[in-house]
Amino acid sequence: MKNKWFLVSIMLIVSIFALAACGSSNDEGSSNESEDTEESTSDEGSSEENASQESETGGEVNLYTGRHYETDQELYDTFTEQTGIKVNVIKGDDDELIARLDREGKASEADLLMTADAGRLYRAKSQDLLQEVSSDVLNNNIPEKLRDQEGQWFGLTKRARVIAYHKERVDEEDIQTYMDLTKDQFQDKVLIRSSSNIYNQSLLASMIALEGEEKAKEWAQGIVDNMAREPKGGDRDQAKAVAAGEGDVAVMNTYYLGKLLKSEDQEEVKVGEQLGVIFPNQDSTGTHVNISGIGMTASSKNKENAQKFMEFLTTEEAQKQFAEANYEYPVNPDVEPSELLKSWGEFKEQDINLSKLGENNDKAVKIMNEVGWK
Ligand code: FE
Repeated sequence: MKNKWFLVSIMLIVSIFALAACGSSNDEGSSNESEDTEESTSDEGSSEENASQESETGGEVNLYTGRHYETDQELYDTFTEQTGIKVNVIKGDDDELIARLDREGKASEADLLMTADAGRLYRAKSQDLLQEVSSDVLNNNIPEKLRDQEGQWFGLTKRARVIAYHKERVDEEDIQTYMDLTKDQFQDKVLIRSSSNIYNQSLLASMIALEGEEKAKEWAQGIVDNMAREPKGGDRDQAKAVAAGEGDVAVMNTYYLGKLLKSEDQEEVKVGEQLGVIFPNQDSTGTHVNISGIGMTASSKNKENAQKFMEFLTTEEAQKQFAEANYEYPVNPDVEPSELLKSWGEFKEQDINLSKLGENNDKAVKIMNEVGWK
């Protein structure tokens, strides 16, 4: 009888957690599953045994992530096999996950926030949603410029923001820098997404860091003057517009080109095949690189497990699979990128700590407003 009440109360706790999760039905399913697993473990013996079992094999870690790749789940399963730590995944839109963490405050079940763009991670840090992690493994596996100096967030994968051009209509030689996009030759030919998107804010923020506000503003003004149309859609839509003849050059993240080329939709593959890739600013400041990354939440109740999980994702073993899931570059310099990415060649990256993207975000947004970048 006592057992029965124990079960009932566990089920109650499980449903409260599932309700709090409030994600898609899939997400709820995975958190339920984990709670069930934990329950069956704790039913097995005396509480003393449970405690030792917990520390040896166990427990769990709760991850809020903007990623949604099946291969990620395989990686989480490998982590669970190796450590006994169950990974409960809540998926969502990057900005919404940050808003949710903010709303939930100390009561949040989340141990980890995984999201794209250093600008966002910086924002989460500024809102006191993250906490410091001091780990030699992380510091050794991730180059210094790709992580927060105070250990509040760490890059896990890299992406470059490149220029895609129509191979038949554009001579590669004419476009070697981001500034080349502002040449008269490309009037009404430039496709780029809206200023409300963090990717362009971060690109402009990097220019502020490397070349100063004045130069950055000059570039932004030149881009607005050369736009083929009012910004709309995501990076892939800019590439599609180039293929459709609306313009000749598009600014996009490398993984979107990968997604087009590897798409199951043959029309998307055709779009990708018409485009060449330019890594801009190779003779000067380097190509803009951003990350997707992870931070331990300020509210984390499974800190040890969370750190182990972060460390696992930066190992050589995990990095390849994690980066390739989204056609990205591994952050761990000992791990090679995929064949597709290697086929685009090596390139010089901007040499700034990515915190600068967050630090200069306000200035970038201000400039975009001033030049009328919609
Ligand atoms: Fe993206």
